[in-house]
Amino acid sequence: MTKNTSKKKIESAKNTANVTDPSKWNFATKCLQAGWKPKIGEPRVLPIFQSTTYKYEDVDEVERLFALKQSGNKYTRTGNPTVAAFESKITELEGGVGAVATASGQAAVLLAISNLVKAGDHIVASKTIYGGSYTLLSVRLSKLGIETTFIDPEDSIAELRKAFRPNTKLIFGETIGNPALGILDFEKFSKLAKEFDVPFLVDNTLATPFLVKPLKLGANVVIHSATKYIDGHAVALGGVVIDGGNYNWENGKFPDLVEPDAQYANTSYTQKFGRAAFIAKARAQFLRDYGAALSPFNAFLLNLGLETLHLRMPQHSNNALALAEFLSKHPAVNWVSYPGLKSSPYFKRIRKYFDYQGGSGVLTFGLKGGRAAIRSFVKALKVAALVVHVGDARTSVLHPATSTHSQLSPKDRLAAGIPEDMIRVSVGIEDPRDIIADFEQAIAASTKGGK
Ligand code: PLP
Repeated sequence: MTKNTSKKKIESAKNTANVTDPSKWNFATKCLQAGWKPKIGEPRVLPIFQSTTYKYEDVDEVERLFALKQSGNKYTRTGNPTVAAFESKITELEGGVGAVATASGQAAVLLAISNLVKAGDHIVASKTIYGGSYTLLSVRLSKLGIETTFIDPEDSIAELRKAFRPNTKLIFGETIGNPALGILDFEKFSKLAKEFDVPFLVDNTLATPFLVKPLKLGANVVIHSATKYIDGHAVALGGVVIDGGNYNWENGKFPDLVEPDAQYANTSYTQKFGRAAFIAKARAQFLRDYGAALSPFNAFLLNLGLETLHLRMPQHSNNALALAEFLSKHPAVNWVSYPGLKSSPYFKRIRKYFDYQGGSGVLTFGLKGGRAAIRSFVKALKVAALVVHVGDARTSVLHPATSTHSQLSPKDRLAAGIPEDMIRVSVGIEDPRDIIADFEQAIAASTKGGK
């Protein structure tokens, strides 16, 4: 970028900036300063409110809290000031009306779904979702009488219509599917959701709101494993669900959101909380009854992670693109899958939907030479490490066939989009020259160690 263009950019940002209204701050400013709003003399940095309990002097006040007539902290399982600041920041970044943070990403998926379904209901979900979410739907929820039809997200709309039933309660997909790395066709999914009048739930973990904001693309509820890029440093497990406040729950399909809740002084969530009905119900019921709450300490760490999200995501994307381009030309590489590559069939969706034209940090590639070569490759890595994780600032690799998907037969693995030669890379934010040099030397070692 020349000096002139960068000056022009700053000037145009200046023209549109509105500093007096924090809800109008630009994304980077919200990453740093949304959520915790210190009053005079309070710590500027979000404090860790390491307390399970809150003091009251008036029985009537506590009674009002328990009847949802007054908002406030009762007990850390259902709310805590540090957790609330994290929830408020991610709500602003995704553009929603409220959020509930959870103990893990898995708990966030469970919260979002279980807030809407009961035995006898039906779900339509993309089959290219994270393995844990797939098992939650296909095994766990199915044992509770909630059936899921898994669809190929690339099928035609005519084909996908066939999956819906009168008892379908939601449609679910991932912005960037983990680990197949397809990018969701938001237009098609939101069209189906509207046509069948069901909420559209999106797991935005691998993309983050820096790359794409699903609520602007027709989604109604956004889910994150905050453990990944939101944390960004591999230090805290957590999840969060954000309510878009843009679905009409009073359409006859969701009586639990509309009719009085006997456990909360006959509160009707839609009447009492309006656009934030979904998330108010999730906090009141899911956190109270299932208890998978985020700890204040982890909320502190996740908030700290968000403070640099806008700096990390471009670097993850640019480094991943550089590595994908290097691997694409390497003779020892069978194939490369990265949505940010211009040659990727998903690149056009990055152009269409993403605020930032990058494909995030995860890519996969096939290494020649069989398992022996893969072993030698992994052993030779110096910058990257073998780790069961994505989204860390440090580069990580994994061989799914011998780890996350080792319990499947080779045939079933292939059907799940996991060939034997696949290596998943979560590209970090180190200097890209070091990452590429590391892969170059490790691949050279693999060709010696392989068959
Ligand atoms: N959603 C996606 C897309 C994921 O990749 C993961 C974990 O890898 C999860 C949800 C579950 O998150 P957690 O590991 O924080 O429970």
